[in-house]
Amino acid sequence: MTMARLPDAPWRHRPGFDALCALLGAADGATRLVGGAVRDGLLGVDVADIDLATALLPDEVTQRLSQAGIKVVPTGLAHGTVTAVIDHRPVEITTLRSDISTDGRRATIAYTDDWREDAARRDFTINALYADPATGEVYDYFGGLEDLEARHVRFIGDPAQRIAEDHLRILRYFRFLARFGALPPDAAAYAACRANANSLMALSRERIADELLKLLALPEPSAVLRLMIEGGIFAPVLPEIDGAGLARLEALIMREQQAALETPPAAVLRLCALLPPDAAVGEQVAARLKLSNKARKRIVTALAPPPAHGCAQELVYRVGTEAAFDLILLDRTEMPRDMCALSHWNIPVFPLSGRDIIALGIVAGPNVANLLSTSKEQWIAEGFPDRDRARAIAQAQVAEFLRERQNS
Ligand code: ATP
Ligand code: MG
Repeated sequence: MTMARLPDAPWRHRPGFDALCALLGAADGATRLVGGAVRDGLLGVDVADIDLATALLPDEVTQRLSQAGIKVVPTGLAHGTVTAVIDHRPVEITTLRSDISTDGRRATIAYTDDWREDAARRDFTINALYADPATGEVYDYFGGLEDLEARHVRFIGDPAQRIAEDHLRILRYFRFLARFGALPPDAAAYAACRANANSLMALSRERIADELLKLLALPEPSAVLRLMIEGGIFAPVLPEIDGAGLARLEALIMREQQAALETPPAAVLRLCALLPPDAAVGEQVAARLKLSNKARKRIVTALAPPPAHGCAQELVYRVGTEAAFDLILLDRTEMPRDMCALSHWNIPVFPLSGRDIIALGIVAGPNVANLLSTSKEQWIAEGFPDRDRARAIAQAQVAEFLRERQNS
């Protein structure tokens, strides 16, 4: 076993974390950091979520923490996980366990006090590293340190068998590959994912969507998506995603960089790029993946033809900032030079109402709405001038309307 130590980092000193570890007997070796925190901590990247593995049973964990006044939520009691809340953030605490029987979707578990057994039920070697929360000493049972160094995403044990136990691991594999992996991928892992792509059909669509969106949210997922498309991974569940979609995604990522957005890239928008520019397809995929109404609407708007518009401001005015940016980034319309200014542009409010039209001598009724709307269109075409100009526009529209009515 290679000796290694977790480098010191601010997240290890989150208020209350030392006390939490002390309560869980970390000094005696009963509780260790595990998973993403150790992996990302070793890579020196920021750790957002802390996971702990413990030899204590969930009841014991709950009792010790509650007695000390720490809030504990039984988030996944069926598989041995409770969540403690410290410093307003969750820490997941999972009792050491092994998977007794699996059906591709869920496991029947048994608790254990054997760290190696707990490591063996985890998916990839780089995800099965443990560390002493105080000293940072790392425990590695399956060569995870070496693989991490080599950026090698490798299943623990036989990939095909591990995928048969839990089909979601196919998608997790590609996600971790996109995040940490060097290409080409591990031959055995890639072959097993390809051969078992059909098993994804047995998973709930929500879990597929969740994994896929996590993958798409990564800075540079294209190379791995190419492997997935070439390997037929999407064919069973999302046959709409093909090579043309990949080319659109690559173009999107280039434009995201060009636009130097202040917000991180949106996974849902990247999904849009992968889909053909067809609102009906977007609607179907959103329904199939059981996405939220908000996400569904966003996808449909991004894949539908953009409304007629002149400048980018006009597009923002008509569809809102988010949808306009989606359409621009998807290259459905020209990209303005200053995307930053556009993102900070305050959408103006049309300064007139029906009352202003009535005050100009039009009797309440449909003519008021029509004149208001033609005035508004001219106001948009003139680039959203101030209230005085808006009134002048309305005055001219009303005068013309009255003239035409007289002549007919
Ligand atoms: P992230 O930064 O994405 O949270 P993570 O490694 O912490 O990465 P989680 O999904 O939070 O990933 O899971 C925590 C740990 O639990 C993993 O590192 C892994 O050891 C184990 N794990 C999670 N899902 C599975 C799975 N489907 N099969 C086997 N082990 C898993
Ligand atoms: Mg995690």
